[in-house]
Amino acid sequence: MFSKTLPNQRPEDLPDYLTIGDVDVEGLNVLVRSDLNVPLSDGVVVDDFRIRAALPTLVDLVRKGAVVSVCSHLGRPKGRDLTLSLEPVATHMSALTEFEVGFEQGGQITVLENTRFLAGETTNDPETAQWLAEGVDIFVQDAFGSVHRAHASTVGVAERVESIAGLLLDAELKALGRFVDDPDRPYTVVLGGAKVSDKLAVIENLLPKVDRMLIGGAMCFTFLVARGLEVGESLVQDNMVDAVRGLLKGPHGRKLILPVDIATGSRFSEDAERRVVAASDIPEGSVGLDIGPETSAGFWGLINSSASVFWNGPMGVFEWENFRNGTEQVARALAACDGFTAVGGGDSAAALRLLDLDGSVSHLSTGGGAGLLLLAGQVLPGVAVLERWVQ
Ligand code: ADP
Ligand code: MG
Repeated sequence: MFSKTLPNQRPEDLPDYLTIGDVDVEGLNVLVRSDLNVPLSDGVVVDDFRIRAALPTLVDLVRKGAVVSVCSHLGRPKGRDLTLSLEPVATHMSALTEFEVGFEQGGQITVLENTRFLAGETTNDPETAQWLAEGVDIFVQDAFGSVHRAHASTVGVAERVESIAGLLLDAELKALGRFVDDPDRPYTVVLGGAKVSDKLAVIENLLPKVDRMLIGGAMCFTFLVARGLEVGESLVQDNMVDAVRGLLKGPHGRKLILPVDIATGSRFSEDAERRVVAASDIPEGSVGLDIGPETSAGFWGLINSSASVFWNGPMGVFEWENFRNGTEQVARALAACDGFTAVGGGDSAAALRLLDLDGSVSHLSTGGGAGLLLLAGQVLPGVAVLERWVQ
């Protein structure tokens, strides 16, 4: 297929930045901001996708003779909550690499404690940023999943010391940049998942850029309500219904493709009885837990005939086998598509792995929200800040 943006070319719309190859890091103290925000269960890492994705940058810096520390947030702690310590991440990272990994001190790679234990992290407090920057010669921004947030560890520190992009950030920007800079068409975005309000906010900016947007997951019920349908006990974001109605009636409304049938459950439970109904006929008291088979088949065709596809958010409660079909069909459609296909979002990536299809898409992104904002044309503060260090 003919591609206008070569994968190793920086898209024109994105800010300029230096990368590891542009500077000499030998003997320097390098602080890396990675996205090591991984799910933990009883103090053990249960999904190490983001740790694996962060490692190449850390290893490259060690090999180049840098003294490497890495920081990240994990979860949403209120103060110093040790159940969200980065220590299990350090332990897990150590098992993945031949290099020595220390927690808070020592090691060829030193993992620092959860940045959100710092009171000024999320407010980007100048003192917190200064404290992070103390003794650092070069800051490496590699936390693609966090660059949409202007925090002390993503922006404040980068304003204070020379800052460059890490390998992962660079690869993510180049891959997802293909959707920003003159994407191959038809260009399709598939949206689902649970975080409706976050995602609805970007749809408005994203919709004019795409050729079609397929809506599934919990989010589709807000759209169905906006169309005047009743959705039983399905999740609805009441305060977004008017905005969604505006989008459906707006100049790009015809690009929005909603489910025509829904797999409902008698209640929100794994062993709920599964019943496929028309989207216009969801029984009172039932919960929509997946898109139906007719919708999946329609989505399959639209995805398969696309030249670029971005997917974020499962089509249903894929964690439950009875309600996995929609997510599975969408995943298989991306895998079978000849165009450029990318998937973002922690749960969407987990669904792909569960289906053993994670190797079948062109790009598996570590960022959910950040990826959507990038596609929507929004400035990512943690990337924009790197531009000031380019001479
Ligand atoms: P991602 O991490 O890929 O960005 P989200 O975190 O937004 O995705 O959403 C993932 C979650 O959405 C999954 O845990 C899934 O069970 C849930 N979900 C999908 N469809 C529904 C639905 N119809 N009702 C309730 N939850 C849903
Ligand atoms: Mg998620």
